[in-house]
Amino acid sequence: MFRLSFRSMKNVISLFILLLVSSGLTAQPSADAEIQEFIDKQYPSLDTLYKYLHRNPELSSQEEQTSRLIADELTSLGFEVQERLGMYNLAGVLKNGEGPTLLIRTDMDALPLEEKTGVPYASTTKGTNAAGETVGVMHACGHDIHMTVFLGTARTMVEMKDQWSGTLVMVAQSAEESGFGADALFKANLYDKVPVPDYAIALHDNASLPAGTVGYRAGAFMASVDMVDITVYGEGGHGAAPHTTKDPIVLAAQMINSFQTIVSREINPIDPAVVTVGSIHGGTIYNIIPDEVKLQLTLRSYSPEVRNQIVEALHRITKNLAQQARLPEEKYPKISIRDPQTPATINDTELTNRLVTVFKETLGEDKVVETPPNMVGEDFSRFGMQDEKVPICMFWLGAVDPQKVKEAEETGTKLPSLHSPFYAPLPEPTIKTGIRAMSAAALELLVE
Ligand SMILES: [Zn+2]
Ligand SMILES: [Zn+2]
Repeated sequence: MFRLSFRSMKNVISLFILLLVSSGLTAQPSADAEIQEFIDKQYPSLDTLYKYLHRNPELSSQEEQTSRLIADELTSLGFEVQERLGMYNLAGVLKNGEGPTLLIRTDMDALPLEEKTGVPYASTTKGTNAAGETVGVMHACGHDIHMTVFLGTARTMVEMKDQWSGTLVMVAQSAEESGFGADALFKANLYDKVPVPDYAIALHDNASLPAGTVGYRAGAFMASVDMVDITVYGEGGHGAAPHTTKDPIVLAAQMINSFQTIVSREINPIDPAVVTVGSIHGGTIYNIIPDEVKLQLTLRSYSPEVRNQIVEALHRITKNLAQQARLPEEKYPKISIRDPQTPATINDTELTNRLVTVFKETLGEDKVVETPPNMVGEDFSRFGMQDEKVPICMFWLGAVDPQKVKEAEETGTKLPSLHSPFYAPLPEPTIKTGIRAMSAAALELLVE
């Protein structure tokens, strides 16, 4: 007698299910399956787009060609596009029936760095920085990944128009790296020019998470950033006669040492804060005591109170040390804090939790990881800080070759960070995961 073994029985059942699926008798494929199929079809052109953007980076507030490309594509997809909303900021609006408004933001600018990744599509572009110097230009922060995901998401949302309802606002932002772009966008009154969003979301590629994953954190996500210039004055003279001078180099050194006690001795240890002196310039030659020294600092914190406490300490310490050096009042140090500062990025908890649920359903539990807050900054924070308190969420997009992450973990070596000339994201899985996550988030939020 002919008998079916358990294994062959299973095969027959599988075949039967397969036939049912292919004959359309079962449920519709999930939105994610549809998104994935669409991205696979789009990928050759997205790869070309990514490599074009990578080879043709533009510095902060100089994104003329990049913004042109994005505006043209959004227009051809049916978005109503407004350009030059401060700098090269632009916004595209797509109305698709009743429902909420979702804003998705990308940034567009690159960094003054000479690329050293060795990838075949490496940038050899040169640019002119704010000081008028010729510099290498590179997408070392992965904003080219952000733009490719952004346009891939726009294409996906247009393709899947029958599966959502509401208004989609796509914003491409100028000058994120310099911290001026979002400020310019809101000085141009973005929320008067496009429907005020119910949510604003964005992603940033991540130089330590493997491609295929996303990272999230509700609440404190990125720090506030202040850039501070301090001019320390003295009374110069001959290096051999220090007693006839008031040496600003020694004074600057005392100040730098004292600044180390702001975070360690004055700020509550529970509150994150950083005071870094990143630049010190003074003097010309061995035997001259100069008249002044210039310092540049970056301050990081998560709350306005801590930030103000650091600023107060800088004023107090520099003034007291100048007094101690017997300098007259007009020679007390001059402190200028660059305006605008970048506020802290605080992710809305409810919105973040909603996105995390969707990401886990879409990508799988193990591909969605909670990440600690850190002290880098992002002016995406401004999208949630206008009169209209829009809930915002920025999440990480893993961008590193998973094999390299594994090797680094095993050998204890460091992966190139964002802003490194060696930072080379793995394009295909990063871009595909970014579009899947962003489109799934948009479909979740844009329901009537
Ligand atoms: Zn950056
Ligand atoms: Zn960035």
